[in-house]
Amino acid sequence: MKKVVKFGGSSLADAEQFKKVGDIIRSDATRRYIIPSAPGKRHSKDTKVTDMLYDCYRSAKGSGLFEEKLKAIEERYQEILEGLKLSLSLEEEFEIIHRNFAEGIGVEYAASRGEYLNGKIMAAYLDIPFLDAASVIRFKKGGILDVAVTDALLQKAFEEYDRAVIPGFYGALEDGTIKTFSRGGSDITGSIVARAIHADVYENWTDVSGVMVTDPRIVENPEVIDTVTYRELRELSYMGATVLHEDAIFPVRQEGIPINIRNTNRPQDRGTFIVESTCKKSPYIITGIAGKKGFCSINIEKSMMNSEIGFGRRVLQVFEDQGISFEHTPSGIDTFTVYVHQSEFEEKEQQVIAGLHRLVQPDVVEMESDLSLIAVVGRGMKSTRGTAGRIFAALAHANVNVKMIDQGSSELNIIIGVEDRDFETAVKAIYDIFVLTKL
Ligand code: ASP
Repeated sequence: MKKVVKFGGSSLADAEQFKKVGDIIRSDATRRYIIPSAPGKRHSKDTKVTDMLYDCYRSAKGSGLFEEKLKAIEERYQEILEGLKLSLSLEEEFEIIHRNFAEGIGVEYAASRGEYLNGKIMAAYLDIPFLDAASVIRFKKGGILDVAVTDALLQKAFEEYDRAVIPGFYGALEDGTIKTFSRGGSDITGSIVARAIHADVYENWTDVSGVMVTDPRIVENPEVIDTVTYRELRELSYMGATVLHEDAIFPVRQEGIPINIRNTNRPQDRGTFIVESTCKKSPYIITGIAGKKGFCSINIEKSMMNSEIGFGRRVLQVFEDQGISFEHTPSGIDTFTVYVHQSEFEEKEQQVIAGLHRLVQPDVVEMESDLSLIAVVGRGMKSTRGTAGRIFAALAHANVNVKMIDQGSSELNIIIGVEDRDFETAVKAIYDIFVLTKL
């Protein structure tokens, strides 16, 4: 059994958090490859070390005065070292960083030092070898990950090390230039390492006990999802649920490796398993509810449109010409509606209307803004009768007017359009009927 374990910034924000991480690693000998993030926020008003580094480097490039900012970063690490009673000194490391910043080495190098230094501390604290990500995560010139070389480098390194701390978020070009992934990219490093060593599981430790059934800002203390498939998660993330960096899914999914989201502050919780497929049923029929505000619908009416071949294509052509992507296209006999993101659509509204008149000569074009879309997602819906009925009964009881319904052919989700002002009420009502009353 081999596990790759990644710890997010809040799990490593200070010495107390480091100690929890130490206990987690020591309690399971199969947790062999450890991917740390940079220290995150210690409290809500705090600043992440990665943000401090970006800011410090900006000053180095701008006014050239960055000593104080670098000192503040050094103090964050010093506090961790002292809290852990480690004799490790980062003085030399900071001298090198100082020199490199002064010479304008590059912003990606600057940002990567957060993970690099945290990795050094973690390795010393756990007495596990440190493996610099620059030597095993390889990028191609354009900044794209070189999968084949990275896999080979990692596999070779793992012949030598049966345990290692590998900092997240960065790698290097062949010439050694440091490159980073986009923000939150330590998740990707963990996924890449898990794929390379054919891990049994990729544990992703954070500050919540897994993926929640719905947004905790709408429903207080929502239940945690026990098992979610990659497809379900994609639907939920697309509609706003934030769990993992999007690019972290692909490497492990390709290998059929499950991801286990865990809580560093509550290691006794099982967390959520994200898997390719499962015969495990969700206890609530549905797996999750997610949604977003800020959509707009464009309703096009034209009598006899159903006999006009190519009508839909021409309508969508107008949106394509303006570079606007569409979300849904519910239609009737003489009506065709297009749902788009309001922010994308607003500035091009008049061009779209003109385009529609030119290409499809509609009788009427009507628009409605401030709409929300809610996705009710669940692999169990396919085999359960009455799910849609329950959703709409719940919405009717809550006095929510449903503007649009769309069930994909996969029967994995039902998308519901409501007005923005009904959004929270609708999500709560759907959560209540499935999770609380389990009707
Ligand atoms: N430290 C980086 C960030 O704040 C990467 C990560 O935490 O995953 O984005």
